[in-house]
Amino acid sequence: MYVAVIGAGAAGLVTARELQRAGHEVSVFEQADCIGGIWVYTPQVEADPLGQSGAQVHSSLYASLRTNLPRDLMAFSDFSFDSHGGGEDAWPRFPGHALVRTYLERFAERFHLAALMNLQTTVTSVAPDSSGGWQLRTRDATGEKLHRFDAVAVCSGHFSAPRVPELAGASKFPGRQLHSHNYRLPSPFAKRRIAVLGTAASGVDICREIAAVATGVYWCGELFDTLPDASRDNGNARCLPAIEALQADGCLRLRGGGVTDPVDDLIYCTGYHYRYPFLAQPLITVDDNWVQPLYRDLLHMRHPTLAFIGIPFRVVPFPLFEMQARWFARLVSGDFSLPALEARRKHTASAIAGLRAAGVKQRHFHQQMINCTPYLDALADECGVARTAPSLGELAEVLQAELARHRGDVRDRPLPHFGPTVVPPESISTA
Ligand code: FAD
Repeated sequence: MYVAVIGAGAAGLVTARELQRAGHEVSVFEQADCIGGIWVYTPQVEADPLGQSGAQVHSSLYASLRTNLPRDLMAFSDFSFDSHGGGEDAWPRFPGHALVRTYLERFAERFHLAALMNLQTTVTSVAPDSSGGWQLRTRDATGEKLHRFDAVAVCSGHFSAPRVPELAGASKFPGRQLHSHNYRLPSPFAKRRIAVLGTAASGVDICREIAAVATGVYWCGELFDTLPDASRDNGNARCLPAIEALQADGCLRLRGGGVTDPVDDLIYCTGYHYRYPFLAQPLITVDDNWVQPLYRDLLHMRHPTLAFIGIPFRVVPFPLFEMQARWFARLVSGDFSLPALEARRKHTASAIAGLRAAGVKQRHFHQQMINCTPYLDALADECGVARTAPSLGELAEVLQAELARHRGDVRDRPLPHFGPTVVPPESISTA
């Protein structure tokens, strides 16, 4: 089969590899001039600091970013993140972003992926054709081209289009407003009064980094809404409930009624939108960040030759991409049969009903647990490959508990070691 892969980030690379080793002819289209996707740091930011208009910068990394997962949880199954695979044994267990890029480059080199790459080539449209295949339009320096493929894997990432909640009064707020997508360094925030909205990974990192240079930081988020005393000190940062409105005097009105002193800058660490501007309508809808209609968060419900690798979040992304890619490669090869359309629909409907019953917000329907091995195992069982090594689930489970215990950052705490990735001895807990 001729298979197109859109994007050469971690998901696109491992998908290309799995498809190639299943015997398919693979073409990868990547709009950038290099592989690595989000792990290619750039100091460049967008003209619109909130990232709602104008030319888009793909990467959302800040200069100081270290992984928020230990590298043992970021290895593809037969390419460990150490000297035996694409890393070095002495690398920190939570490496800086440049080392992740190196790991991905070594992965591409080891599995001879360069020959499949079409760099500086943007996919501008994907539409089903009358023969059951796919028509892709691409644009590169030489102009537009039309291609036909039997199957398509969308690996375009979903951490580049900032989600900014609409806050009352935002247009009259006198301070600077930006999204974490356009945050690179703390220096522009020195000696200023800052508010950070959002308590997920970027909120944790940016709040900590800015608190070291700012006059003071209000760290606001739903996580703090229900604290008995919602104002807790954390060094130079005060934890406050989520922001309800911005005032023309620079103050923030908080959920529950409080009002802060004026702030100079507000940084939204409020996540990202899924966006597929190249997909012909009405293939996919994205409604409040819920991508539909999909089977197992992975395959187009009605078009079983169109896959989306990497949609679930708060997971262990690299192992998840690999299992999804393996599943899709085997599906395209005819190595297993999908349940009938009606059964697939029922499967998704019942999963969604469960989420709704549990009170999960629609924009979190693709959220899983860091220990996402139940999902990975279901894919493995369905497509008939070995499940992931137990060590993955064991470490993910410990990490999940540790993150809850230590407010989202455990990078400097030793963790148990379940192998096989070699990590520095000082990063291993003995308890
Ligand atoms: P990307 O890396 O975004 O790659 C998508 C690629 O598709 C890009 O190269 C893009 O240029 C290309 N593309 C998009 N549209 C087109 C088009 N139309 N035509 C051609 N090419 C196109 N994960 C971890 O495992 N550990 C971490 O510590 C971690 N930290 C993170 C920190 C931050 C701040 C963020 C935002 C994410 C973090 N993640 C982390 C998640 C990370 O995004 C995933 O691990 C993963 O790298 C995403 O890979 P991807 O291939 O899905 O997307």
